[in-house]
Amino acid sequence: MTIHSMVAAHSKRPIVPDIIFGTSKEAQDAEKKFGKSAVINATIGALMDDEGEPVFFNSVMQHMREMSDAKLAEYAPIAGIPEYLTNVQKACFKDFTPKGFIEAVATPGGTGAIKHAVWNYTDMGDEILTANWYWAPYKTIAEEHGRKIKTFNYFDFETNSMDMGSFKTEVENMLKIQDRLLIILNTPAHNPTGYSVSDKEWEEINSFIRTKAIETGKKIILFVDVAYIDFAGTAEDTRRFFRNFDDLPENFLVLVGFSMSKGYTLYGMRCGAIICVAANQEIATEFKDVCSFSNRGAWSNGTRAAMHALADAYEDPAYYKAIETEREEFRLLLDRRNNAFIEAAKACGLTTVPFTAGFFVSIPCDDPMAIAAKLKEDNLFVIPLQKGLRFAPCAVSEEKCRKAPAMIKKYL
Ligand code: PLP
Repeated sequence: MTIHSMVAAHSKRPIVPDIIFGTSKEAQDAEKKFGKSAVINATIGALMDDEGEPVFFNSVMQHMREMSDAKLAEYAPIAGIPEYLTNVQKACFKDFTPKGFIEAVATPGGTGAIKHAVWNYTDMGDEILTANWYWAPYKTIAEEHGRKIKTFNYFDFETNSMDMGSFKTEVENMLKIQDRLLIILNTPAHNPTGYSVSDKEWEEINSFIRTKAIETGKKIILFVDVAYIDFAGTAEDTRRFFRNFDDLPENFLVLVGFSMSKGYTLYGMRCGAIICVAANQEIATEFKDVCSFSNRGAWSNGTRAAMHALADAYEDPAYYKAIETEREEFRLLLDRRNNAFIEAAKACGLTTVPFTAGFFVSIPCDDPMAIAAKLKEDNLFVIPLQKGLRFAPCAVSEEKCRKAPAMIKKYL
């Protein structure tokens, strides 16, 4: 008898090709064949210049090139270097640090933070709540750990805002079944839609969760994935919501997933952090202990050089200013591209999902696979999602952003 599989039962799952990397490869092949100007490659979730070349901040790259060998290559402590752990909180919260007990643990990118939240704050078999438009790796990470994703309906298309009714219903239903609940919200500048939860919606979410925590006595953990925070608006507009988490009740824990991938253009250096806002020091210390243990058990420690790239900025005002200036330049470039896309969509009657800012815009439609396939024939490459198409203004010029909506509209 021939053996066809050696993996353990829990790791047997359908092998699904990665649609983002696959479509991106097809777009690159088309670029080689027809030339870059003839192709709109809106597949990539990274900042590209108008010629389609990746953008890296000179300030950060230069700083890393000048680092000592020890800073570049030595092991970091398991939880992260101490100066990173304090300064990553400043980078994340800026002037809006919530009043509570805060600790941080370094992780490889925002992905590592999500993994630690899923593993340490849910039970085996639990469902995790997120929006029905969501970044696919949430499901991968949940399934990798024997958990499942449950979704609420994210948008009320009538009011162009969050479907708060659906969110509340799902939270209530899940709290009837589970002893604890992990909710993942990716905001501001959500991937794949670009939506940012508004201040008013945040107030409602916050007071609802507090009420439910008190009413049910169950443990509620809110994970806010802020991977795109530095491209979502001004520091104040994007961070004001953190003050909702002042003085939390003991059974409501907030975890923030911070990433250096976009905000410092260090995608492949794999650095981020999981930061907790807790009601008391015991819960915060417990957080630090379990996430440090998970670091040791998963990847040991993180990338020291990337940690220094952030931490050093708080010792060197000129370096800090250089990063902020450069980032602001690209944030404004992104805004111009986004505006071009949204204006052109309005002009040709193309409906988008409610949009605020960031790397992506989504177009709701039936049969996204078929439409994405037709668009490929016109040399427009987008990512087909379950509920629509994802277009990435982060990766294409303003001119192409203006051109694409009418090309998409043709097939809807
Ligand atoms: N969360 C979302 C929604 C993302 O889109 C990304 C990156 O694409 C991340 C988190 C974290 O990415 P990384 O692990 O590269 O920091």
